[in-house]
Amino acid sequence: MPDISVVIPLYNEEESLPELTSWIKKVMDEHQFSYEIIFVDDGSTDNSWKVIESLRESNEHIKAIKFRKNYGKSPGLHCGFAKAQGDVVITMDADLQDSPDEIPELYRMIQEDGYDLVSGWKKKRYDPKLTKNLPSKLFNASARKISGIHNLHDFNCGLKAYKKDVVKNIEVYNDMHRYIPYLAKEAGFTKIGEKVVQHQARKYGKSKFGLSRFFNGYLDLMTLWFTSKFGRKPMHFFGLLGSLVFLIGFIALAIILINKFVCLHEGVPAPLVTDRPYFFIALTAMIIGTQLFLAGFIGELLSRQSSDRNSYKIEQELF
Ligand code: UDP
Ligand code: MG
Repeated sequence: MPDISVVIPLYNEEESLPELTSWIKKVMDEHQFSYEIIFVDDGSTDNSWKVIESLRESNEHIKAIKFRKNYGKSPGLHCGFAKAQGDVVITMDADLQDSPDEIPELYRMIQEDGYDLVSGWKKKRYDPKLTKNLPSKLFNASARKISGIHNLHDFNCGLKAYKKDVVKNIEVYNDMHRYIPYLAKEAGFTKIGEKVVQHQARKYGKSKFGLSRFFNGYLDLMTLWFTSKFGRKPMHFFGLLGSLVFLIGFIALAIILINKFVCLHEGVPAPLVTDRPYFFIALTAMIIGTQLFLAGFIGELLSRQSSDRNSYKIEQELF
């Protein structure tokens, strides 16, 4: 078993791969780590796979998986985690934004300080402010609150280290790579630490994550939170909430009807029914809105609970 598995999901990163590989090799050799590099090519349409094949000719530590098409970073990580053999698993992005120089200290924190997971913190970050850094601040604040992991600043940092047990016991899917510390916590791995890491601006190619994927990620967070609170019995929650909404509607209707009869009896027009139709409209909208929201949310939950949520297809494997 190697000391370290470095798992690297990548999508169209041909320019970065040679530099990244030799940098990792340099660090590993300097510290005399035994290691493997597991590249997961997430359906690249450039020459990434060819580059990996040729890098492998001069470095026997390289292993690689090629997906048939682009499935996303989370399935890439999931697949790399399944294959990893090392005592400590390190994940990093392929675009040279994460520095392999951080590996030795991350390894030490897992092995000596006894952390289950150590997450990088890009304290000084070199990404666009408006589309990346600001949303990321908001995101991290809510992720901290919802997950109850209060000591993390940068949930989504690609550079992380794990005890082997952790990666074998969590399932990363959809855009869940943003919440791996939360997944780990839910799986019972609670010693979660953080290390400030160096960060670089992207040298080659473009970022694959913009604002739209950021909002998608929020749904994953909500469903993850829901599952952790209510387990696999969401119907109890929805049943309860449904009854509550029904009750509110029932009481409102009763008030309106009583009002109408009282007014009828006294010979004056009923204000709640005739003068204030918006009360009715608002009530109806509220009830229908709640029902639609819940129906949609059940759909989101069910789609995330299906057994084939990581059904990516592998085209080629170099092991
Ligand atoms: N990535 C991937 N599949 C995708 C999108 C991205 O494997 O569908 C990889 C990408 O090649 C990189 C890492 O995930 O190694 C992080 O992506 P990126 O650098 O675009 O994200 P950012 O740093 O801008 O948040
Ligand atoms: Mg990047």
